[in-house]
Amino acid sequence: MFIETKNLTKKFGGLAAVNKVDFHIEKGKINAIIGPNGAGKSTFFNLISGFHRPSSGTVLFKGTDITKLPANKIAGLGISRTFQTTSLFEQSTVLDNVIVGHRLRTKSNLFDAILRTKRLKREEKACRDKAMEVIEIVGLTHASDKMVASISQEEKKRTAIALALATDPEIIFLDEPAAGINSDETQGLINLIKQLNQRGLTICLIEHKMSMIMNLADHIMVLNYGEKIAEGTPKEISSNDDVIKAYLGG
Ligand code: ADP
Ligand code: MG
Repeated sequence: MFIETKNLTKKFGGLAAVNKVDFHIEKGKINAIIGPNGAGKSTFFNLISGFHRPSSGTVLFKGTDITKLPANKIAGLGISRTFQTTSLFEQSTVLDNVIVGHRLRTKSNLFDAILRTKRLKREEKACRDKAMEVIEIVGLTHASDKMVASISQEEKKRTAIALALATDPEIIFLDEPAAGINSDETQGLINLIKQLNQRGLTICLIEHKMSMIMNLADHIMVLNYGEKIAEGTPKEISSNDDVIKAYLGG
């Protein structure tokens, strides 16, 4: 099994944001987690990527228990992610964001990341080349020297994906990659996600709009109030009574 969670639980006070979730992510596939707002999707990502400590349960990566590893170690293993709210440096270029972001993910603190980045900027052309490579993959070569503040919302989403790709991940978790952009731009992002998957990258994405996922995902888990209420192919999910109830019943 590539990634597996067992009984994964996160409580915030009395609220079980993620409640005893058993899930597996298949290598080479496009996996999706859907569910209404507040269902626990982002929290589930935070647990896998080491940004939150689970209250109980385990996360296994290729059979190894990674539940207690810090986020930078998990990133180093090849598990990368984007955030629901993109936190880019608006007054820096796309290229600098990818370079600094990459260091932040793999170093244990900001100070170390910045120091290393300055040194790397001088010493290691390789770092810049890697950044340019992932910027090209996401289709932003033309914008690499632009200030993030001046690019479109969709380009910001692509920049965030580039940043996640810079660590050479085996799997990338995307938290609502199409939130806040229009449907034409969404199609562009869907194509990018498909392309990344065709290059061999395993994908796991969160979305609360069921429609976007249906022609994209191979395997879907549905969360509602922290619990897994269904799992399966798009066809199985779209005909599942509990899923329909969760979406229509609110
Ligand atoms: P989703 O991403 O599916 O919209 P979240 O995982 O963000 O849902 O949130 C699940 C639940 O956990 C919500 O009720 C939310 O208010 C709560 N929650 C999320 N993060 C925190 C936190 N850091 N502290 C307290 N409650 C939180
Ligand atoms: Mg969320």
